[in-house]
Amino acid sequence: MSIATNLNSIKKNIPQQVTLVAVSKTKPVSDVMEAYHAGQRIFGENKIQEMTEKYEQMPKDIEWHMIGHVQTNKVKYMAPFVSLIHGVDSLKLLQEINKQAAKNNRVIPCLLQMHIAEEETKFGLDETELNDILNLLLDSAQSDNPSFKNIKVVGLMGMATFTENQNQIQKEFQHLKVLFDTSKKHFGSVTCDTIDLNILSMGMSGDYELAISCGSTMVRIGSSIFGHRS
Ligand SMILES: *Cc1c(COP(=O)(O)O)cnc(C)c1O
Repeated sequence: MSIATNLNSIKKNIPQQVTLVAVSKTKPVSDVMEAYHAGQRIFGENKIQEMTEKYEQMPKDIEWHMIGHVQTNKVKYMAPFVSLIHGVDSLKLLQEINKQAAKNNRVIPCLLQMHIAEEETKFGLDETELNDILNLLLDSAQSDNPSFKNIKVVGLMGMATFTENQNQIQKEFQHLKVLFDTSKKHFGSVTCDTIDLNILSMGMSGDYELAISCGSTMVRIGSSIFGHRS
């Protein structure tokens, strides 16, 4: 199956209001260009250096999403061009993104990554940490001297446990959806330049249909488009 064929059958399979991020990590520019020529404009990468190299070589109407774990000292390399950072899981990282975005005269949209899986190894915030960060951003935005003018938290992201157990995956997605709705309700009723929760990024090749049925608005799909990664 060609990349264009895979892409088109996935697009047919997801509702129009759900955004498709084509995860091109480890794949060569020629593969990514195939998806580009088939109409795809949003690509996800998990390594800053690889994303930056592809950004430099590829058409400039592409939106590049950083979906992996981000090291603070590397934010500066993507700050000039990144469209959305999915994996923000600390205040320290948010501060660095804000600083580098300011240097580039930009506002960088970010998603807060939630820990919903059972595995210890997956990154992410718990509910208390999420509320602490959102409250701090809200206080800052409403103060006389706002300190997060160059970031905007636009939603949440999460990854389910790597398991065959559909019930468990579903429970984890439902949990993330509840966190999203609760935060949206709580922080959506006040006007705040740095918080505007409207994206729920959940679902990958193996579980995106389940994620969409649980309320996902953005799916990150790699191997079902580009084939397996070695
Ligand atoms: C690699 C990756 C994906 C895509 O995974 P596939 O199973 O290939 O679709 C999605 N999200 C994140 C965070 C990833 O690192």
